Amino acid sequence: MDGANIGHGVLHVAAHGGAGYHSHTSEREVKHALRRSCREALKTTSALSAVERAISVLEDEECLNAGYGSNLTIDGTVECDAAIMDGQTGDFGSIGAVSGVKNPVKLANAVLQASRRRDQLGRIPPLTLVSEGARLFAAKENLEIIPPESLVSAKAKKDWEKWKTRLDSEGDESAKEKFTSVALQDTVGAVAWDGEGNMAAGVSSGGILLKYSGRIGEAATFGSGCWAHQSEDGGMACSITGTGEYIVRTMLARSLGEALRKPADVDTHEVLQQVLVDQFWVPIHERGEPTPNAGVLLLTKEIDDGQAIPRLWCAFTTETMAIAYASSEPGDTSPKSSILRRPKNSHAGSVTNSPIYITALPIGK
Ligand code: ASP
Repeated sequence: MDGANIGHGVLHVAAHGGAGYHSHTSEREVKHALRRSCREALKTTSALSAVERAISVLEDEECLNAGYGSNLTIDGTVECDAAIMDGQTGDFGSIGAVSGVKNPVKLANAVLQASRRRDQLGRIPPLTLVSEGARLFAAKENLEIIPPESLVSAKAKKDWEKWKTRLDSEGDESAKEKFTSVALQDTVGAVAWDGEGNMAAGVSSGGILLKYSGRIGEAATFGSGCWAHQSEDGGMACSITGTGEYIVRTMLARSLGEALRKPADVDTHEVLQQVLVDQFWVPIHERGEPTPNAGVLLLTKEIDDGQAIPRLWCAFTTETMAIAYASSEPGDTSPKSSILRRPKNSHAGSVTNSPIYITALPIGK
């Protein structure tokens, strides 16, 4: 239970549709999907279930890269990654490279829930299940199994055909830059804080277009795609998007969680700046990547005058990040959504002129 006295009974939820390059043409559809996901999340009172519900809605949307409409692998198939974490217990579940499961986040949550069950032989429960084993587990847990090809959307198929042809045609160097902007985007995620003071975070992704079959990204990896912890003195829940390989290498979600845990009067803006620049952008840049991509949706519980206050932050290195948020507080239940755009004068390619764009959003006000 929360030691402080504000927020009791209120659920706060925020969802994202990835950091990347959202076009003005997809804007309406993406914002609409994000608002629907927040509305669905408000139908429950628990943070963990709010996160699962919010993400499930986004997985069913064709315009986002998770569940139905996921980017296709090099072999033209859908392979999904997802994870969910409970800030109260530290329990975690994730799945990777799974085909034919309608809602990957429900499967990740089933892995988490299974880790709470007593095993008669005392076997160690898994944190992560992948591929066919994960699909068999989904069937055992009575989750919805569907023909793998039914997760392939017409748009994903068209993108795949276009870029696979270019990949197969030798020497098309000019396509490189454009590919980056379509290959990576629209991973989804959510964070929540409920009336009992519990926090949770989750993430779900179809991964990078033309990825190797069997490849997993940050959305399947512990400490990378989502993180949540809480105490009487505060708490945090974050959901990450961007280039999986770089995010996993820097264990971005956990690094952010650890950095926010340290001093009591931690300045969240400074921590976001420090972790994203010093622990993510600079080391990856030094390895030769000109513009390392990542986006963070962060919900914190701050204690101010004995009262627990929600604060919502969004930070990203890309051009845009799509988000929405809502609270169950009367007058605040109608979700607000936007495609946040990096101001024109900040350059993603320069460390001096910060590569990270950070903004605070007025949740629960
Ligand atoms: N984060 C995803 C991955 O690397 C890709 C994306 O953002 O769409 O698996």
